[in-house]
Amino acid sequence: MNNITSTIPWYPWLNTIYKNITNVLSSNDHHAFILCTPSGMGIISLIYKIIQWLFCLSKIDNHICNICTNCILLNNKYHPDIHIIQKEKHQTSISITLIRQIINILYQNSYKDKGKIIWIPIAEELNQTSSNGILKILEEPPKNIWFFIQTQHINTLLPTIISRCQVWKIYPPNEKIGLHWLTTQHLISVIHKNEYLIALKMCHYAPINAHKLLQNNLWSKRQSLYVTFLHALKYDIMELLLVLNNVNILILLDWIYIFLIDVIKVFYKINIKFIYNIDQTDILYQVTKIIAIKKIILIINKIMFYRKILMIDNINHMLIITRLLLSLDKIKQTTS
Ligand SMILES: [Zn+2]
Repeated sequence: MNNITSTIPWYPWLNTIYKNITNVLSSNDHHAFILCTPSGMGIISLIYKIIQWLFCLSKIDNHICNICTNCILLNNKYHPDIHIIQKEKHQTSISITLIRQIINILYQNSYKDKGKIIWIPIAEELNQTSSNGILKILEEPPKNIWFFIQTQHINTLLPTIISRCQVWKIYPPNEKIGLHWLTTQHLISVIHKNEYLIALKMCHYAPINAHKLLQNNLWSKRQSLYVTFLHALKYDIMELLLVLNNVNILILLDWIYIFLIDVIKVFYKINIKFIYNIDQTDILYQVTKIIAIKKIILIINKIMFYRKILMIDNINHMLIITRLLLSLDKIKQTTS
């Protein structure tokens, strides 16, 4: 696919899915798609390219021309017939008022008569009423309307919506493809070869998230977090207070969680290829020597419990982190 003039990034793992969906679109009258996929996969690029294919004035097979008016507009992520439905900043969910406004627009003529797109980037933002509004359009769609609904959790959608759509589950690319892409990206700092794989694993193989993680200044603090964690386990758990009192507390807790899962794997001598932190085997091994595995499991449970509390808006982070650490200390001190 030629996307030289496009401002939309393209990712190699999307090639097959793009081809498959455009094949479906050209061979039958499916007009509604649910794309169920984790974040960090570049699905926005995929949807723009599919819309470009639908609207292109001189496409050949799966290939867009890239030079017609519609292609040029879409290369700049704009087209008057794309209607993106998402909640406003001050709202908790997508309002029915917005859906009604869109329904009115759907019956007006489209630019170059190519049809219209309804795109819901986060289906989780639909509430019961707005879901019913969408269902109504899906039940009796005007001619040449295509739906693209993105979700990470298909079960958050009404079964009646799901049954009217074609569902595409899109999984992260395999390790080889993800690693190859990641190592060819520009990064601001020098990254050790192992770290590409570690970041990829920590992001559940979603390459774009792994790239963002490696770009984040926080990444360079990963090693010292584990060293401090080991020291705190040995001597005083409160040593973690200053490290964890950070705006990125949720990420740091995720890292400790993954680290502790690795400790369990090391204890049970599980093959190193299943370990996330392959560059931390020394520290992982040391942890298995200073604390019992049953205590590690209790610590993991506490971390998960307090992580949920930390996600509540306007919660006092310092207070919750202190409570977490006190509970970890209690586990550490238990003699049984
Ligand atoms: Zn075109």
